[in-house]
Amino acid sequence: MKARQPRDNLTPQRRAVLAVIQESDEHLTAREIYQRASARQPGLSYATVYNTLSYLKQSGLVHEIALGSDASRYDRRELSHGHAICEECGRVCDLDLPDLDLKEGWQEALRRSGFAARVVTVTLYGRCQECQRHNAPTAEDAA
Ligand code: ZN
Ligand code: MN
Repeated sequence: MKARQPRDNLTPQRRAVLAVIQESDEHLTAREIYQRASARQPGLSYATVYNTLSYLKQSGLVHEIALGSDASRYDRRELSHGHAICEECGRVCDLDLPDLDLKEGWQEALRRSGFAARVVTVTLYGRCQECQRHNAPTAEDAA
């Protein structure tokens, strides 16, 4: 018999939350997920979305990108890829870095800290292409 997958016993509410994340590559916040999921599942509460996110995270179906004091964002992909965050518009883009793994050279530092690392993720901060284009210096600025 095939083992039951965590997604098999999802309620319709939880399924709607998961679908919103899986259909988007924008790395949505809990608030944005709530807005989209409640459009599909009228009556869905923010608390349910919040609890569902924590359940989906524990089940390994979605991954949380913790951003310090900013709201976390949720990723449908395993976090073994990097992110570039635009400091102007907040956009979070995926970066497929070829060599993102627990480097051999890190083993000594990890041993000393006693830390059991699970995954490496890299976050770059700057300006996305769109924001660079909008705010490119114009001829007027130069004058
Ligand atoms: Zn931007
Ligand atoms: Mn991502």
